[in-house]
Amino acid sequence: MFNASLPELSAALEDGKISSVELTELFLDRIRKLDGELNAFITVDAARSLEDARSADARRSAGETGPLLGIPIAHKDIFCTQGLATTCGSKMLANFVSPYDAHIIEKFAAAGAVLLGKTNMDEFAMGSSNESSYFGFVRNPWRKTAVPGGSSGGSAAAVAARMAPAATGTDTGGSIRQPASFSGVCGLKPTYGVVSRYGMIAFASSLDQGGPLARSAADLAALLNVMAGFDARDSTSLDRPVEDYARDLSRPIAGLRIGLPREYLGDGVNGEVAARVRDAILWFESQGAKSVEITLPNTRLSVPAYYVLAPAEASSNLSRFDGVRYGHRAAKYADLYEMYCKSRGEGFGAEVKRRILVGTYVLSHGYYEAYYLQAQKIRRLIAADFTAAFTQCDMIMGPAAPTTAYEIGAMSDDPVQMYLGDIFTIPASLAGLPGLCVPCGFDAKGLPVGLQVIGPYFSEARLLNAAHQFQQATDWHQRVPPDAEIQVVR
Ligand code: GLN
Repeated sequence: MFNASLPELSAALEDGKISSVELTELFLDRIRKLDGELNAFITVDAARSLEDARSADARRSAGETGPLLGIPIAHKDIFCTQGLATTCGSKMLANFVSPYDAHIIEKFAAAGAVLLGKTNMDEFAMGSSNESSYFGFVRNPWRKTAVPGGSSGGSAAAVAARMAPAATGTDTGGSIRQPASFSGVCGLKPTYGVVSRYGMIAFASSLDQGGPLARSAADLAALLNVMAGFDARDSTSLDRPVEDYARDLSRPIAGLRIGLPREYLGDGVNGEVAARVRDAILWFESQGAKSVEITLPNTRLSVPAYYVLAPAEASSNLSRFDGVRYGHRAAKYADLYEMYCKSRGEGFGAEVKRRILVGTYVLSHGYYEAYYLQAQKIRRLIAADFTAAFTQCDMIMGPAAPTTAYEIGAMSDDPVQMYLGDIFTIPASLAGLPGLCVPCGFDAKGLPVGLQVIGPYFSEARLLNAAHQFQQATDWHQRVPPDAEIQVVR
């Protein structure tokens, strides 16, 4: 059961081989066994999960069917869940119990999925390693001394260690694709606006996008089918016809034009990462795809532009955490001003404070034109790079990150070094394009390497098609971390 795909789990439930309650118990048990060490979950409420499972079983007995009915799914702790803690990885929200459900939580509930728990994450989704969480770092199931990536590191680790069949995440500058890459799972960031941000705690609103993490491209498609869709409560939600994201999975690869950006496979990419990615591309070529060398000339400007724009938006979004309406409030203060200062001083961690300071600075009078406005112009240039590239190719392939997972603590004193690791994920985020990451091999240390595929707006089904075809011919996505406990699931 732990290695079964979502369609396999659904078939087992449909055939009465297992009930949702039994399936949920299995995963809860596994979380109990493994999560003490991995720390992928912030909140697990077994009673509530089992209640969801009982109701899914009842719905099935009443004749209902559905691809996710009765299947346990873990959610990043950035999505508001009614009656359950939603911390966003921060002390600021450590005691926050949301009075409402995020749009995607409603959608999963309507589909009959079981809420398995809330996963660990970098504080307010700011980070690439999951080390900035107030609830402690997450260990990478492939190597327990390494980070799982971030900010959706808890979701990636939970899926990799088979503690959840699938999970949700959010991606502002790479937070689905990069942890998928580091943890050897699949992750998809949809086109901006495809998944509603309602009830998803805001980091940088013009970039934030929810998406699935799972063990195969086919599973990602099943999840996106539930998550996507118009929602009037999010002003940037796109009102488009409903799509079946699994519709193209079996389409042949022959004739596909793959763009290989010069900037993504040159200097600055770890040799083993580049080699595994090249091997994957060779497989596509063997199936009749054609590679074309392309250029995304403004790639090197993406990280500096992002680290102006994202903090600018964050500084504004996070101003709501003032200790008045909700969130942490300091115990002692002399006046209102001191209450704000102390509450925010105590509630936010170092990385969040750094971003608020940078964001406030670049938006302030005299610096706005020099930084924020310039960064917006660069954002436009980066989007134009992609538009030009997609006249020559159908999709772009490259690594999701320049390295495999690094050791816990290796980057914590050097935020800029960590920011630079986002170079291959940030451009698609700035342009609002869909991107996915699937495992394509391992380095000499046994750490996973991820292949990133970026496509034009609304090309999710085509990206999933390419990834699925690759997974029909390879088994990188089926590998299980080498730990004895984890291996048992084979
Ligand atoms: N690592 C990037 C950052 O720290 C991206 C985070 C994200 O996508 N949420 O901002």
